[in-house]
Amino acid sequence: MKQVVNPAYDWIDQSLLTIHRAQWHRSPYPITSPPGAVVTLEGQTVINFASNDYLGLAHDPRLVNAAIAATQAWGTGATGSRLVSGHRELHTQLEQAIADFKQVEDALVFSSGYLANLGVISAIVGQRDLILADQYNHASLKQGAILSGATVLDYQHCQVEDLSVKLKEQRDRYRRCLIVTDSLFSMDGDLCPLPELVAIANEFQAMLLLDEAHATGVMGETGAGCVEHFGCTGQPLIQIGTLSKALGSLGGYVAGAKNLIDFLRNRASSWVYTTGLSPADTAAALAAIAVIQAEPQRRSQLWQNVTNLKNLIQDHVLSQETQTFQLLPSASPILCLQVRDPKTVLRVGQALRSRGCYVGAIRPPTVPTSRLRVTVMATHTPEHLQQLAENLAFVQFDVV
Ligand SMILES: *Cc1c(COP(=O)(O)O)cnc(C)c1O
Repeated sequence: MKQVVNPAYDWIDQSLLTIHRAQWHRSPYPITSPPGAVVTLEGQTVINFASNDYLGLAHDPRLVNAAIAATQAWGTGATGSRLVSGHRELHTQLEQAIADFKQVEDALVFSSGYLANLGVISAIVGQRDLILADQYNHASLKQGAILSGATVLDYQHCQVEDLSVKLKEQRDRYRRCLIVTDSLFSMDGDLCPLPELVAIANEFQAMLLLDEAHATGVMGETGAGCVEHFGCTGQPLIQIGTLSKALGSLGGYVAGAKNLIDFLRNRASSWVYTTGLSPADTAAALAAIAVIQAEPQRRSQLWQNVTNLKNLIQDHVLSQETQTFQLLPSASPILCLQVRDPKTVLRVGQALRSRGCYVGAIRPPTVPTSRLRVTVMATHTPEHLQQLAENLAFVQFDVV
């Protein structure tokens, strides 16, 4: 075939070059083993500190078997959107299980958490409305806010004072108001000040949308999330979450009042105009909720591991004088070690990997400052945690 030249595409190579020059270029590595605390990454066995599978459920036989059974019974695809031909009883069962787990009236499942945020935010606010958003919110919350057409104002990370000042100045100029925040910040590991946010939302007649993606299954007495952790169950709230982190499956959800869910079934574009969740993903998530409710010891083990790893890092790493790493404040299984620049975080990440520990090296533009992002799992052994601490202690001297 004759090569046709069209310079309209020349910008792609130029843009890629810019990305490379800024040390921002990324590409995925294949994992060639089942998911777990130890995985095979490009042929190398590594301890996995980069997964969101906090409770180690993504390869649990009960989830796997539920997915197989659902596939055999209901097929591989839902074959249509939920409102046309893609609705199954399994979806209703999962939505009911999520609502019960969260102690709210109803829930709606989406194809991913990302799509839940796009669909929900753009359905409930529009051009006459105001969104107040934590500056460190997840990309999907930011995209949802843009898509809605509402005026978006960021407030300083977790600063209720700043939020309150902005509401006083701006609230009256708009019809509806929506406060949007991660509950557990995915790239920092800290928690939003939920009780204060709820009080402010109620005071200013603002809706409050809380993204519990990393908190569901992890935070709270029964694993219901930060809402439970902070004693805010029953407050007027819109809760978003994902089936793809502690629940080990794929998909997202919104949970809240019955009328809200009914409205979203009619108005959330990313739900109305997309195919229903596959039977396998639906059944696996349903099985995960059952396991989480029946086995609170998984969550206790996770928290014990978090405490152990923090102590080990304090003793082996932070007590040294290199100051290569700064531990960011965390109240969760996400521990972030800030490093001075993108080049350094890449080098340290590679060094850890060559020593058998796989840790996320997170750089701008995902986050404002480069950091190692360590996620703890319930299935990490004391030896796994010890090895990470010792390797961090070793590599910190590499970087001067
Ligand atoms: C991971 C994540 C999402 C996206 O969820 P997916 O189901 O993976 O699309 C949304 N919000 C936050 C805060 C997340 O961490």
